[in-house]
Amino acid sequence: MMSIEEWVEGAATAVILGHVHPDGDCVGSCLGLRSYLRAVKPELCVQVYLEPFAGEFHFLTGADAVSPDFYEEKSYDICFALDCSDRERLGDAVRYLDGAKRTVCLDHHITNEGFADVNVIRPHASSTSEVLAELMEPGKMDRATAECLYLGIVHDTGVFKHSNTSEKTMRIAGALLAKGVSSSHIIDDTFYRKTFGQNRILGCALLAAELRLDGRLIASCVTGKDLERCGVTNRNLDGIIDQLRVTEGVEVAVFLYEAGPGEYKVSLRSNDLVDVSRIARSFGGGGHVKAAGCTVAGTCGDILERITALAAEQLGQQEDGAAAH
Ligand code: AMP
Ligand code: MN
Ligand code: MN
Repeated sequence: MMSIEEWVEGAATAVILGHVHPDGDCVGSCLGLRSYLRAVKPELCVQVYLEPFAGEFHFLTGADAVSPDFYEEKSYDICFALDCSDRERLGDAVRYLDGAKRTVCLDHHITNEGFADVNVIRPHASSTSEVLAELMEPGKMDRATAECLYLGIVHDTGVFKHSNTSEKTMRIAGALLAKGVSSSHIIDDTFYRKTFGQNRILGCALLAAELRLDGRLIASCVTGKDLERCGVTNRNLDGIIDQLRVTEGVEVAVFLYEAGPGEYKVSLRSNDLVDVSRIARSFGGGGHVKAAGCTVAGTCGDILERITALAAEQLGQQEDGAAAH
């Protein structure tokens, strides 16, 4: 197993890429790796490319140096692809992966088949930020790096609440806190704080929610019109799926929003019985057993019908299995 320091040996330039529609773990891991590389190898020229991301993450060190312009004619000695389950999730930034001399993929998605020269994929890790923290030498990690990784872990664990939060996650988070990270600032200001518009769209999604499969599946869909009415964009929808998931009796939560004409982004969450990564994968998406996503063409109603059938199939198999015992 090589280390970060060994991967960048002999390199003069490095590029760091994350997935389209960057979330907290994606931004945190990309900026965390940037800070770490700058600390351990100051002569290395490091560039991060990411699509525009939420303003709450802009306080992180290096956020102002991120380029959203994926059309620059540049090639790099080494490319890191972070929190990205497949090449397509890199969007147009895939050109920097293809143009790099060496490529490294660091990730925690169970659906990741490994598309780089070196692949470190740990499906049991809470987040890519956790994977990175394990790869970094603690003595070389400064507060700026720790802040990025802590934010990534907070977001992918839903503040240490999801089942991906292990004893190791907590130990790593503790070590990051010891670097001087302000936990309450990160948790309150980047995770829980909602704008008025975000609360309105949450209310709208909850009002539109419906139960299916005898209350074991909850689904909600918001349209472009709903977003407009609440004064938000599709980058302001974090947290809605989590609220749907905690509805009593629910095994699977499904949240759709209109991502383009005739196209919906689907978020899937499961409590215990269903592997939602299998459902997402059948639509060309991916993710984890209990949290997955995909983008699907069609109408809201049709997409929901298809997802409901796949969830019912898995729930039925569970029941058949239970009856056989
Ligand atoms: P989301 O519902 O968008 O928060 O995504 C839940 C999980 O599924 C995250 O870990 C995402 O990285 C993953 N995911 C979401 N959409 C896709 C997609 N289209 N392809 C692959 N993985 C996805
Ligand atoms: Mn992510
Ligand atoms: Mn992640």
